[in-house]
Amino acid sequence: MDGTFSENDLSRVVEADRKNVWHHLIQHQPFESAIDPRIIVEGKGMKVWDQKGKEHLDAVSGGVWTVNVGYGRESIADAVRDQLVKLNYFAGSAGSIPGALFAEKLLDKMPGLDRMYYCNSGSEANEKAFKMVRQIAHKKYGGKKHKILYRDRDYHGTTIACLSAGGQDERNAQYGPFAPGFVRVPHCLEYRAFEQEGAPQENYGVWAADQIEKVILAEGPDTVGALCLEPVTAGGGVITPPDGYWDRVQEICKKYDILLHIDEVVCGVGRTGTWFGYQQYGVQPDMVTMAKGVASGYAAIACLVTTEAVFDMFKDDPSDKMNYFRDISTFGGCTAGPAAAIENMRIIEDENLLENTTQMGAYMLDQLHGLADKHSIIGDVRGKGLFLGAELVSDRDSRTPADEAKVQAVVGNCMAQGVIIGATNRSLPGKNNSLCFSPALIATKDDIDHIIGAVDKALGDVFG
Ligand code: PLP
Repeated sequence: MDGTFSENDLSRVVEADRKNVWHHLIQHQPFESAIDPRIIVEGKGMKVWDQKGKEHLDAVSGGVWTVNVGYGRESIADAVRDQLVKLNYFAGSAGSIPGALFAEKLLDKMPGLDRMYYCNSGSEANEKAFKMVRQIAHKKYGGKKHKILYRDRDYHGTTIACLSAGGQDERNAQYGPFAPGFVRVPHCLEYRAFEQEGAPQENYGVWAADQIEKVILAEGPDTVGALCLEPVTAGGGVITPPDGYWDRVQEICKKYDILLHIDEVVCGVGRTGTWFGYQQYGVQPDMVTMAKGVASGYAAIACLVTTEAVFDMFKDDPSDKMNYFRDISTFGGCTAGPAAAIENMRIIEDENLLENTTQMGAYMLDQLHGLADKHSIIGDVRGKGLFLGAELVSDRDSRTPADEAKVQAVVGNCMAQGVIIGATNRSLPGKNNSLCFSPALIATKDDIDHIIGAVDKALGDVFG
């Protein structure tokens, strides 16, 4: 760390943070008494430094799976600066040079998808997809085919409509009432299939997808407009789909003329080792939303991508004054986002980061299995590419979730060792408590060994 801030400056920052900032996702009481807020001052590659100069190896890409190409990328900063001094912003119906060029570059990686709609957060992108589904229902089906199916344990964002499509109960509690027309389908977590009535020992993936069909039939196929799924469920416990699941999901959507909306906010742009998570499973969506890794957090950008067929539904009758997508995103007109995203993609391509993600992901998965051989507290290990989880259980036979406080203690122990890891679903009684890992796509074997070593020690310290 180069010490641009003096110690005095930094203690002022800490004080200002403590007094004035309302942080995401935390109970603030401890900050107001003893604990210093953590200020991250600088980052380079896989590492960040806090206000005390302590170095941390970041195994979660900025806390929430975002900084895919790592910290301190000057070429992205340069691309953004050059664009900002030329033109920072224009919205409405006008385009921009980076907006057009990023759309062309990204869509080239998404065969079968043709149109890009810009906005600035994953929640917003999902909201826009929901609005499209509703508008299509009105245009084509007299408003009837408006229901949106979502899956238990998936998360699609923080707004009321996104929470209405939210399968994580802890996030939803106390925020109702929710929007009507969102219907939950069962999860596909094989490790917890034993908790689902009627789940078979074999062909679980097909059975899990068939549960979606059951919901469609109960609701009435003529009322269901879309199915919204994460390719690999993120915050719900790093849930990889079981074999056969996606093929059957695709069949079901085709059979009932239901739009398949894949939420790639976490998996998009390299995280699983392909450009998009859905490409791991040979599935062809109608709509894809993405945000976090699109520009690795160097600028705020989110996108909703659709097929030409979806796009066409909004332009077929220009004489009808209501017949276009009557939606705008003020900050969808920021040019910094696509400028950063173009350079972000160039880095992924030039540095072969998809390949690295596949190789390092396989290595890390292996190392996590090694930890599971040693620590019986690990009940299941799963993931794809550099997006991995280890579910902790207090008893392997009953698969009882490990004590939440202890799971947090593991995260805290790693933090004290200078390694930042994550945990998912931690306050959901009866659900899974998983450690979560999503290092930047530049991770090396040494980085992974370092992370695994810290987790090994933490599990030993906390669980014995
Ligand atoms: N979708 C998924 C799968 C997510 O994990 C998230 C956020 O973590 C979102 C959507 C919402 O994105 P944002 O926080 O940018 O609104």
